[in-house]
Amino acid sequence: MDIVLMGAPGAGKGTQASRLESVLGFKHISTGDVLRAEIASGSELGQQIAQVIDGGDLISDEMMVSILKNVVSGTDKSIIFDGFPRTVAQAEMLNKMLTQLGRKLGKAIEIALPEEEAVKRLSSRKQCKLPGGEVKQIGPDFTLADCQAQGGKIFTRPDDTPEHIRHRFAVYHQQTEPVIRFYRSTGLYAEVNGNAEPQQVFEELLAVLKK
Ligand code: AMP
Repeated sequence: MDIVLMGAPGAGKGTQASRLESVLGFKHISTGDVLRAEIASGSELGQQIAQVIDGGDLISDEMMVSILKNVVSGTDKSIIFDGFPRTVAQAEMLNKMLTQLGRKLGKAIEIALPEEEAVKRLSSRKQCKLPGGEVKQIGPDFTLADCQAQGGKIFTRPDDTPEHIRHRFAVYHQQTEPVIRFYRSTGLYAEVNGNAEPQQVFEELLAVLKK
């Protein structure tokens, strides 16, 4: 059973999806990470993607789905989609893709968080680039001290500046909030309160998944 994890930028989707991956053995697919890996590969496609991401806009639905297809078809584990779908067209394409691959979406869970809290989190968040190139977000599961101990470099994501954060929220309201309404209408929707300690959010997620 695959799962879609939804929520505004900064709601904690990445943190919670990583925990679900380690505890329940899901495959965590963050489309943001998939795109950043394409950029890091130095490909021409990566250069095109970088321009869009750094400005806080969405890459096209067709390009996103074609990149994602390769990742999805490479696993037989249950998947947690983090950061996808971000438009109703992507949600429809996801249904088609999963059916073609003989997979099934079991739940679409929103981590709900007031916008001012999400903006506060994004404005102060930091990343760590490890010597091997892997990027981890600094937080309770990977602290500044962990980063320093492993020889990592601390940096701010180019799209986490105040101006880009504002723009990403505008994009979220306009293009991604309709996805929540889409899943409400399918009966797959569930909501957890994201305005709590990560462990509490995680326990709420586990409870939703048991239902
Ligand atoms: P994230 O790491 O989820 O915050 O994503 C970072 C950026 O990657 C977004 O602001 C978009 O530019 C791009 N991106 C991630 N997922 C998608 C998607 N499903 N569709 C289009 N663009 C995406």
